[in-house]
Amino acid sequence: MYYKTINIPIVLEIGENIFVHLDDILKKNHIYFKEKILITSLELKDLYKTSVDKLSFDDIIFIKGGSYEEAQEVMKSITNRDALFVAFGGGSIIDAVKLVANTLDLTYITVPSTLSNDAIYSPIARLVKDGKKQSFGVKAPLGIIADVNIIKGSPKKLILAGVGDLVSNASAVKDWLLAHADRGESINNFALALASLSGNSVIPYTIDDIRTPRFIGDLANGLVISGLAMVLANSSRPASGAEHLISHAIDDLFPERATLHGLQVAWGHLLVEREFRQPESDYEKLLVFFERMKMLDEIERDITFSKEEVEQIILRAKTIRDRYTILSKV
Ligand SMILES: [Zn+2]
Repeated sequence: MYYKTINIPIVLEIGENIFVHLDDILKKNHIYFKEKILITSLELKDLYKTSVDKLSFDDIIFIKGGSYEEAQEVMKSITNRDALFVAFGGGSIIDAVKLVANTLDLTYITVPSTLSNDAIYSPIARLVKDGKKQSFGVKAPLGIIADVNIIKGSPKKLILAGVGDLVSNASAVKDWLLAHADRGESINNFALALASLSGNSVIPYTIDDIRTPRFIGDLANGLVISGLAMVLANSSRPASGAEHLISHAIDDLFPERATLHGLQVAWGHLLVEREFRQPESDYEKLLVFFERMKMLDEIERDITFSKEEVEQIILRAKTIRDRYTILSKV
């Protein structure tokens, strides 16, 4: 009999005050390495010093994150071939560790300090190389340990960016179905279902919920499942459609005006639904949700482009990669 198999994370723990119990969690899940190396920022290490001091790290490497060149430097300093990296930080730090671990063929787990995008469990790293943000295919982590208390303390704007990234799956899924209908692109129905369901997981919430354990748990689980959809499809397709192309186009054309990935994606999602998906658009529904989440304030504060600039962004988005989306029909 034939079955399709996928690698799923060995450990997925989401709970309050669990970072300090990292050693026990690894032991409980039979994860043993000769060395355990924490890779984080100096700020986070200082902020969570009491927990870090209680944990048995063999080494701590401080990085800023988000840079390909910095990741290359880190690689040079790693000599141990039996080490587990613990990536503790936001998307930029996690993405840098992903590249390091992938290139050296070492294992890593993620401990997100916030949930600003689906970096926590995805097979893709976004890093600035030669001054431009680029995507790198990498191995997904061995596990995710999401401490609700740490995430709760992160800025509201970052959490809302994570919401934007997750909810945009609805747009990505539409584009995948469109590519199937118009071009015969093959669809993995399990990946499609995972992306679609996870994208809906935070829809019932409002801005008043964002610091509650339930919301943070659902957002974390949603982002992980969304990442799993990408692992299963062996592509970012399930979670990246026209709205992601638009975000990448902003990074390309206006790097100095770029903001958080999740907010750009949310802006692109609204734009696509309003301008291009009529008459079967979900624009009104999306607007109601974004209002309930007070996301429009965050989006409008950071992202303003003139009509001509929006046209430029759309033109660039269409050519950014060979991916058929609603923009291909514009
Ligand atoms: Zn994304």
